Amino acid sequence: MRKPIIILIISLISVFFILDLGSYLSFQNLKSSLGQFETWRIDSPVLTGVIFFSFYVAVAALSLPGAAVMTLAAGALFGLMWGTIIVSFASSIGATFAFLVSRYLFRDAIQRRFGDRLRTINNGIAKDGKFYLFTLRLVPLFPFFIVNLLMGLTPIRTVSYYWVSQVGMLAGTLVYVNAGTHLAKISGLNSIISPGLLASFILLGVFPLFTRWFLRFLQRRRVYAKWNRPKNFDRNLIVIGAGAAGLVTAYIGAAVKAKVTLVEAQKMGGDCLNYGCVPSKTLIKSARLRHQLSHGDNYGLKANVPEFNFKEVMARVHEAISTIAPHDSAERYTKLGVEVLKGYAYIKDPWTVEITPHVGSVQRLTTRNIVIATGAKPVVPDLPGLDKVDYVTSDTLWDKFAKKDSLPSRLIVLGGGPIGCELAQSFARLGSRVTQIEMASRIMVHEDKEVSEIVQSSLERDGVHILTDHKALYCEREGDHKFITVTHDGTEQRIEFDELLCAVGRKAQITGYGLEELGIETKNTIVTNEYLETLYPNIFAAGDVAGPFQFTHTASHQAWYAAVNALFGDFKRFRVDYSIIPRATFVDPEVARVGLNEQEAKKQGVPYETTRYKFDELDRAVTDSSTHGFVKVLTIPGRDHILGATIVGEHAGDLMAEFVLAMKYRLGLSKILSTIHIYPTLAEANKNVAGIWKIKHAPQRLLMWLFRYHAWKR
Ligand SMILES: Cc1cc2nc3c(=O)[nH]c(=O)nc-3n(C[C@H](O)[C@H](O)[C@H](O)COP(=O)(O)OP(=O)(O)OC[C@H]3O[C@@H](n4cnc5c(N)ncnc54)[C@H](O)[C@@H]3O)c2cc1C
Repeated sequence: MRKPIIILIISLISVFFILDLGSYLSFQNLKSSLGQFETWRIDSPVLTGVIFFSFYVAVAALSLPGAAVMTLAAGALFGLMWGTIIVSFASSIGATFAFLVSRYLFRDAIQRRFGDRLRTINNGIAKDGKFYLFTLRLVPLFPFFIVNLLMGLTPIRTVSYYWVSQVGMLAGTLVYVNAGTHLAKISGLNSIISPGLLASFILLGVFPLFTRWFLRFLQRRRVYAKWNRPKNFDRNLIVIGAGAAGLVTAYIGAAVKAKVTLVEAQKMGGDCLNYGCVPSKTLIKSARLRHQLSHGDNYGLKANVPEFNFKEVMARVHEAISTIAPHDSAERYTKLGVEVLKGYAYIKDPWTVEITPHVGSVQRLTTRNIVIATGAKPVVPDLPGLDKVDYVTSDTLWDKFAKKDSLPSRLIVLGGGPIGCELAQSFARLGSRVTQIEMASRIMVHEDKEVSEIVQSSLERDGVHILTDHKALYCEREGDHKFITVTHDGTEQRIEFDELLCAVGRKAQITGYGLEELGIETKNTIVTNEYLETLYPNIFAAGDVAGPFQFTHTASHQAWYAAVNALFGDFKRFRVDYSIIPRATFVDPEVARVGLNEQEAKKQGVPYETTRYKFDELDRAVTDSSTHGFVKVLTIPGRDHILGATIVGEHAGDLMAEFVLAMKYRLGLSKILSTIHIYPTLAEANKNVAGIWKIKHAPQRLLMWLFRYHAWKR
């Protein structure tokens, strides 16, 4: 269908130029032929009006020169009122045709090709498109046809385009039609709009943008109206919470010489150091090593299940925490120029934070900006009887289990997400009988189905009894015996256990420190704009409390934006960039991903092609007996543009770095292929998948010619 449209348009434009119809639309011709046009109009006014209208629509739709002269002619022939009505509708309809043609012919291709680069423009158009269009329409400096063609490439709605164009062009139409009514008095097109009139149009054009800015200004003032702003501030920045987000925010603040106070109620380092990444990865290592030794026969050794003392395993976990703790300590941050206060922070007003220390008196500090980085806490499900079975969460597990003499022999893990899977596998590998309960039809639901299946079979091989599609109903305690009852397909099952770990998700910490009193909106996380500003432009949120991700690396990524926008937002604010977010789950085999996977691409309607490479073909994977897994890359069909990559296999999290870099700097698979990778490494898998893509996209016609060329040379 595209071809006939293009042919039609090109033919019409060619006819216009070949027959030199443009000469009829010159100012001089209009003046000299006006008498003839007048006669036609007097003889048959409706027919003349209809022909004029249609011709105007065609000129506008085909982006032909002459619309300005035709507008003058409308004034001269039909007078101010009818001239304005005819031109207003004809120009808007013609413009919308041109807009639709541009959209139909070019938009998809342009968006596909430059989609990620156009994202900011698309977002801007979605938010402020009508205002921009209105400005462009009002100011006659912007060429009419360029506006039509360019706007057709954006996501603005056709109906909006039509009416905003019509309203926006009305003032200019009136001026030109009015000039047309005095055609004899004007000497040319340039004399119609004086510099003064042009300036008025520009002012009118920017007026809506100014109004929006002013309304935002007033809204900000209203937000602050009921609070008394201090004249001076004790600090430039107070950061609440010393986890990944808070530490990085405070560090950046101090590095740029702001006076920064960091308040932490519990342990420096937050979740990641004390209850999350560090202890879990340490446990994973011990469990993995035991697993490898137990399967020594995979490496030509005698399989030997190593004995161990669980207390020592847990002591190693705490040792890792203590080894890393100095990096996040109050001492280190004090040396870096941050004032660290131990205590519970409460935001009294937009500029005042009250700090209640564990010992000592309450301190009140005023500050120009606040960054909330209070993190998240494990969700405890509303399960009858749960409180009676002495359950653990990722917060309590490490201390409680460190006091135990032996490994829990029967462990229930509630939840089939990354934390549940990592810990279920580790405890199973250490020797616990683990039952993992998941309500959904598969574990790791955010990954592709094939990934869930690999992880599930790996966990099952390690002895985890996985119950998907099972809903936990209630817990019970009978003397020293603890039970959980689950249901599946209408059948209930009662399972006895020694310990129960809740790993059903983590929820942002949004209560108890003043958000409610300040009226800061929350929807599971603190609601912020793209600059991480809350309702109050001087209060920001970063990390798990701000969402939408719950990773240490995203927390520190957001911290940069929160710190910089807080301290330098008066000059320039930066929109937080979530375009490329990598993630990994440290089960064995590891699962890592950046960008889209197949299920997300399908959900978002993004066309893609997949290229995969299996580790069992990789030399280093063979030498290491780690041949399970694959690299899967999603690209735009027929183009060397990476949409996402999933790696399942040993060190998948480390291997992913190459794809993260490639996506960030828009390097395609050809670039990865042409980069030397050390042999023999697992990283060669990235190069090999790129090679497979390249073979799939080899230029077949050229190869055929080369084949003939070589045959001829022989
Ligand atoms: C078991 C587990 C494993 C994980 N593994 C990984 C992983 O492998 N990779 C990864 O990227 N992420 C992982 N995470 C997630 C990661 O730990 C979090 O995303 C990260 O810690 C979030 O940092 P944050 O700064 O937002 O919050 P937090 O680290 O939670 O810090 C918030 C801090 O704020 C303090 N606070 C709260 N309220 C107040 C107040 N009113 N006054 C003063 N202080 C306050 C808290 O005490 C806390 O220390 C894991 C999490 C868990 C639980």
